[in-house]
Amino acid sequence: MASTRVDPETAPAAAEAPRCRDVPLPSAHGLAWDQAAGRACIACNRQLTTGAVYRGRVFGEQGVHNLDADVWCCPDPVT
Ligand SMILES: [Zn+2]
Repeated sequence: MASTRVDPETAPAAAEAPRCRDVPLPSAHGLAWDQAAGRACIACNRQLTTGAVYRGRVFGEQGVHNLDADVWCCPDPVT
């Protein structure tokens, strides 16, 4: 009965290392291209693959350019 699911009661506490999903949303002006395109984590800038966590939408504009972007971060680390 092998299971790959993580039991939250036995998983190690992540208190010492802030998770990417806990990092406050940046300003739309500070996003890297890949971050604004939803391809990189907005906290650590790693390329996202599967399991990315949707963080919401950041807003901004620069002249006539709309910088609004849907942003994502890494899933919780698998330990
Ligand atoms: Zn990350």
